[in-house]
Amino acid sequence: MAALKDVAVVGAGPAGLAVAARLARRGARVTVHERFLTPAPVGAGFMLQPTGLHVLDGMGLTPAVEAMGQPIDRLFGREARRGRIVLDVSYGDLRRPRRALGVHRAALFQVLFDACRDAGVVFETGREITAAADGRLTDAAGRAGPAFDLVVDASGARSAVARSLGLRRRELGYGALWGTVPWPGAPFRETALEQVYRGAAKMVGVLPCGARPGDPARLATFFWSLKAADHAAWRANGTAAWKAEVLTLWPEVAPVLANIPDTEHLTFARYGHHTLRRPAAARLAVIGDAAHATSPQLGQGVNMGLLDAAALDLALAEGADLDAALTAYATARRGHVRLYQALSLGFTPFYQADGKLLPWIRDHVLGKVARLPLAPRLLAATVSGLLLDPR
Ligand SMILES: Cc1cc2nc3c(=O)[nH]c(=O)nc-3n(C[C@H](O)[C@H](O)[C@H](O)COP(=O)(O)OP(=O)(O)OC[C@H]3O[C@@H](n4cnc5c(N)ncnc54)[C@H](O)[C@@H]3O)c2cc1C
Repeated sequence: MAALKDVAVVGAGPAGLAVAARLARRGARVTVHERFLTPAPVGAGFMLQPTGLHVLDGMGLTPAVEAMGQPIDRLFGREARRGRIVLDVSYGDLRRPRRALGVHRAALFQVLFDACRDAGVVFETGREITAAADGRLTDAAGRAGPAFDLVVDASGARSAVARSLGLRRRELGYGALWGTVPWPGAPFRETALEQVYRGAAKMVGVLPCGARPGDPARLATFFWSLKAADHAAWRANGTAAWKAEVLTLWPEVAPVLANIPDTEHLTFARYGHHTLRRPAAARLAVIGDAAHATSPQLGQGVNMGLLDAAALDLALAEGADLDAALTAYATARRGHVRLYQALSLGFTPFYQADGKLLPWIRDHVLGKVARLPLAPRLLAATVSGLLLDPR
């Protein structure tokens, strides 16, 4: 193993917590530097794919996450006007079937945070990191800290550290409003992510996401796609007009909307896209959204961060020295990351864009293509993160 005594991890998101727990279990002294005073999960419920579950298997954490999550066996999307089915992916079509898991962020956070504490990881909170050079961190107050053998930047899509390596973020036109609501029950299927589209400009989604830690109540995450430029107008128009519009697309979401009293109950997340050419530099590795962010259309972000954490851990365990290990990490993840970044960039305009041509192709052609022999398996492998199988 590359000799590592002191490791600094920037960011207590899923990627940062996973790598911190893994390296601490190998005997490194790991400190996580988090900008928030209390580390806490931020964001919507999400899907753990077979790739992410494979990483948690290796850490012995899958049962704890499964206990709070909701198995998902199908992704289902239909177009609002005629009800035409344009997306129907079953995890049962995988060569070795494995279901995904809908998870509330607090659930994964709790499991990874507990694993970190059990492994002796130290948390320094209220510490916003603005730069990392040669193993030294600089915080927002301009203070430089002691030198670490390795810094792992896991500070997410707006990482200042990754920007200093030449990362350029491209803001995408669209984002989504999301909120957590009580599970609405029938006619929604608890084992399916369901979406309804009108063109590519409107999308409503309901994702079953299990429960929060310590509270058995079942939950769902609700999504409404929205252009960033229209966010202010959406708020100004008020809740009643928006709910009426949603109900014209999907009348069955009425019980979901009943649990969203006003626009303040939904959070807007704008999507961006970037890929760091080489997610490593001297005494520095970059993982998760800091290294590669995209729209969540393919639902891979958390899973990619977990795969990065596992790949970095393995490269450090097997590398003769730190430089060799960092090169091995960058090489191990390159093909998979680039493929999924390209797929995400290619797929997103079919679901979130202004034009009419791509959604027409989606509604009239893709649904038929998806029924050709072998297509169901290919689609299932794509959404599972298993193309160029990174496991
Ligand atoms: C609406 C929506 C739906 C999504 N759905 C899915 C899905 O279904 N499946 C999926 O896999 N992914 C999904 N994603 C993507 C997923 O949320 C991200 O890919 C994932 O959270 C990235 O994890 P991360 O650990 O790299 O970064 P983050 O989760 O962003 O964590 C970064 C951490 O770093 C901290 N931090 C930030 N800056 C600093 C700083 N300067 N100093 C110190 N600490 C700092 C933050 O506070 C945070 O704790 C979705 C995203 C959105 C917005």
